[in-house]
Amino acid sequence: MSRSPLQVRRRAFAAFAMLIATAAAAPAVVSAYLTLGTTVNGRTVMTRWTSMPVKYFVTNRSIPNVTANQFQTVVAQSFSTWSAVPTATVSATFAGFVNAEPVRDDGATVIGFQRHDELERTLGVTSFTLDRTTGELVEADIFLNSLFDWSTAAGGETSKYDVQSIVTHEVGHLLGLGHSLLGETELRPTGGRRVLGKRAVMFPIAYAVGTVLDRTLQDDDVAGISTTYPTSQFLHDTGSIAGKVTLDGAGIFGAHVVAFNTKTQAMVGAFSLTADGQFVIDGLTPGVYVLRAEPLDDADIASFFDANSKVEIGFKTTFHPKLVTVPRGGAGHAVEIKVTRK
Ligand SMILES: [Zn+2]
Repeated sequence: MSRSPLQVRRRAFAAFAMLIATAAAAPAVVSAYLTLGTTVNGRTVMTRWTSMPVKYFVTNRSIPNVTANQFQTVVAQSFSTWSAVPTATVSATFAGFVNAEPVRDDGATVIGFQRHDELERTLGVTSFTLDRTTGELVEADIFLNSLFDWSTAAGGETSKYDVQSIVTHEVGHLLGLGHSLLGETELRPTGGRRVLGKRAVMFPIAYAVGTVLDRTLQDDDVAGISTTYPTSQFLHDTGSIAGKVTLDGAGIFGAHVVAFNTKTQAMVGAFSLTADGQFVIDGLTPGVYVLRAEPLDDADIASFFDANSKVEIGFKTTFHPKLVTVPRGGAGHAVEIKVTRK
């Protein structure tokens, strides 16, 4: 889901319920971002497409300033952005225009505009249909909320949201990615948050109108899609950092851990997702990393975890005192990041 910067409240959707199921139960799928997942016969299965290309339809409906054809062109560009990642095996095919609405359990993946006056802060929503026995994705639908003003102009348009940026975020969900916390926000006195900067398209809050920056994937997005659909070369070439985050000697759940490559300056994040504070950051280029743990305080917790999760945020941002070396194709020594109470 993409939220406008004036985010006030969020509705729970199936996608996020599944996200939580993964986060609470399955450290096996803990990754460089929150992966969507579901539980099948007590086993957690990563939410992903098992066959490519993903076949999608576009709703044959124009809205003010965006024709159905312009919309379809931009949707194709958003898919291309993800399929162009050389370390991931993603592809998609436009199957045609349809009159069907997105967000219907009809077996067809449909992307289009819908007007939702009741979702006054929500720019777009992705929903899923999963195979009950295998957990694999069989359908995903995206709508952009035509309550807002939209643009497909090449350089963006003042006072309008950029279709390609928001669709690129939603297609990330469609492919099975959850949200990244690599963004900085400040609270507005009138409510909601203002985005100061983002290091991931998959950060849950959108840039303001007129901005086209989210057409371009960042390192955390690339790590996320590559870990979900890895090429064999990617598995061979990258490594990981594993460890735990502790507060007063006990592990904490929901701490955000960021690995910063001292050479390439790439940033990839993950959460501690077990009660004893374990985290894993996959998909890292071998090299030397600075590691820090920080509380989830730059976005609403509900964008990442369900209301029942005991996410610890009462600690100070803490740098691991030593640099961490990531080897090729595996993990180095387990690290413990000891944070202190805020
Ligand atoms: Zn989202």
